[in-house]
Amino acid sequence: MSKLILIPFLFLCIVYWLEIKFPHLPGRDDRTVHTGNNLTIAVMGGLVNLVFLFTIIGVVTHWTEVRRFGLLNQVNIPIGLRLFSAIVLFDMWMYVWHMMNHRITLLWRIHRAHHNDITMDSTTALRFHPLEIVLSQFFNIGIIVLLSLRLNELLVYNLVLQMVIFFHHSNVGLTEGWDRVFRAILVMPNMHRVHHSIEVFETNSNYGSIFSFWDRLFSTFRKRNNTNNIIYGLNRFRENGWQGVLGFLKIPFQKSISEKMESKKNREKTAVTNKEVYL
Ligand SMILES: [Zn+2]
Ligand SMILES: [Zn+2]
Repeated sequence: MSKLILIPFLFLCIVYWLEIKFPHLPGRDDRTVHTGNNLTIAVMGGLVNLVFLFTIIGVVTHWTEVRRFGLLNQVNIPIGLRLFSAIVLFDMWMYVWHMMNHRITLLWRIHRAHHNDITMDSTTALRFHPLEIVLSQFFNIGIIVLLSLRLNELLVYNLVLQMVIFFHHSNVGLTEGWDRVFRAILVMPNMHRVHHSIEVFETNSNYGSIFSFWDRLFSTFRKRNNTNNIIYGLNRFRENGWQGVLGFLKIPFQKSISEKMESKKNREKTAVTNKEVYL
């Protein structure tokens, strides 16, 4: 398994190099502090994930396998088709979970830490609050049981997910033509850049993780013709203090002045008007 972790790490190194050679937005000379912050956050998140993987998730996947519980245990399909189904079904759950993080006030308070990065690049894919990871793993357990996912299927899903999210957060200057070709299936940088926009109506769109078709299917897909002038991050947490590791960790505990505005109802209303920025 330790060798498997090397695959996304090597992929991140390649994407990081591509960002230097072929940047979407040029002019970022020193990425040391930003990268250091996001790698530190990644270590915390990675430890939380490993604890879950080797404890509860390991036990739960074994239990469903032995009891023949859950959806995929009820059908007799070839192993390849089962793996593909597991990846697609779990990715649909990730889409729902991501949307929940934007629509449920309490979850948004935690998830907004991911959105506070004002200079998005491949390392932003590592910037998830440990609390968000704990919560998502608890919800994942229920889905894993319902779908009867095996540990190796989850590992393959996470391997693919990690590579796709490194790339779609990246500052690689892929042309709109190629971006469009690949995003027929996968979430690509121009799609996820819109999701990290400071504009609320854009933030509340493009929730996909691996596959882009969930957003088209559930009408949350949003396109922007020019992604060069997107302002990333949140209005509320732009200062250096919030960008560092400690500030990042404190974000879920900050009550926004416009917390009420972050309720589901107001979010949707604001998204319709397409005008207000309230974070
Ligand atoms: Zn989000
Ligand atoms: Zn993101």
